[in-house]
Amino acid sequence: MIFNGGDAAAYSGGLNWELIGLMLMGHIAFGGNQLVPIGKVHYFSHWLYGKYEPQILRLVDWFLRRKFITETAIGRALLTGIALSGHYLPHGLVVTTKAATNLIRYIDTLQSRENSPRLAVGPCVCQKALDRWQEPCCKDIVVLYGADIYLSLNLGYKIINADEAVAILEQCRDAGLVHSLDFCLQSGKWHFVVCNCDQDICVLVRTFQITGKMLYAGPEIVRQDPGHCLSPEKCGECVRICMFSANSIKKGKISVDYRKCFGCGQCVRVCPGKTRTMIKRPEFTHDHIIPAEVLLGKQPGQNI
Ligand code: SF4
Ligand code: SF4
Repeated sequence: MIFNGGDAAAYSGGLNWELIGLMLMGHIAFGGNQLVPIGKVHYFSHWLYGKYEPQILRLVDWFLRRKFITETAIGRALLTGIALSGHYLPHGLVVTTKAATNLIRYIDTLQSRENSPRLAVGPCVCQKALDRWQEPCCKDIVVLYGADIYLSLNLGYKIINADEAVAILEQCRDAGLVHSLDFCLQSGKWHFVVCNCDQDICVLVRTFQITGKMLYAGPEIVRQDPGHCLSPEKCGECVRICMFSANSIKKGKISVDYRKCFGCGQCVRVCPGKTRTMIKRPEFTHDHIIPAEVLLGKQPGQNI
């Protein structure tokens, strides 16, 4: 277990001078191949979002629990409209554990004059807002100015180093969670957290499952060698684990709908037949948020 009530108490004491200092210092964001300073308007508007995030999540959860929203065409259209109008709210890029690790390591090595925290972790905002808990729950890895904001909001976050962040990613992977690199305003400069999402509580994943909006495919995609599959009757793990319904059983065999694969890598992890691998996605559309070179472990500018 990586989070319990004691941890929350340890990190949720009153606002202290250290946290006030975090609010006033200069803040840095991800700028593709460098860290860039951000202005007070950027920081304050995101801080405001962080402050009222629990209320926003509870409102969306209310919609997601109404059958007239999720089980009728009009309701789903309404929710899709809300998802589309929430352009400025966090959207997520789904990545493998390797890609999320590459990003954490990359951020950790970039130089900056600002000495603010690079990484912090705290209780999942969805679980906390909805008061529905599932282990592991201390799993929201906030980065750069996102770390400054969530530390200052006094929500139970603590500063961690890159090795600790990678250990959390691996624990979440082994629990079947999917890594989502979340950003606002369709800009990498607004990337602020590496979330680790489930499909029962996570508001972003549940909204995606109804609307098909707010999550994007990462720079990798699965490939399967059907010849080595143990068969759906004997196994079927890939069908069970995929949050995106990319795997199904057709005519007694596993079928992969590659258009639905978001590139999380979970089916590769659980496949006992070792029949699956992740390969580079030919048409990655979010280079402008976080370059594929970074996620695939190359420095920007180098050939892949
Ligand atoms: S097919 Fe595999 S890699 Fe693709 S989204 Fe589903 S579980 Fe993830
Ligand atoms: S997890 Fe692998 S072995 Fe099992 S059904 Fe899926 S492809 Fe076949």
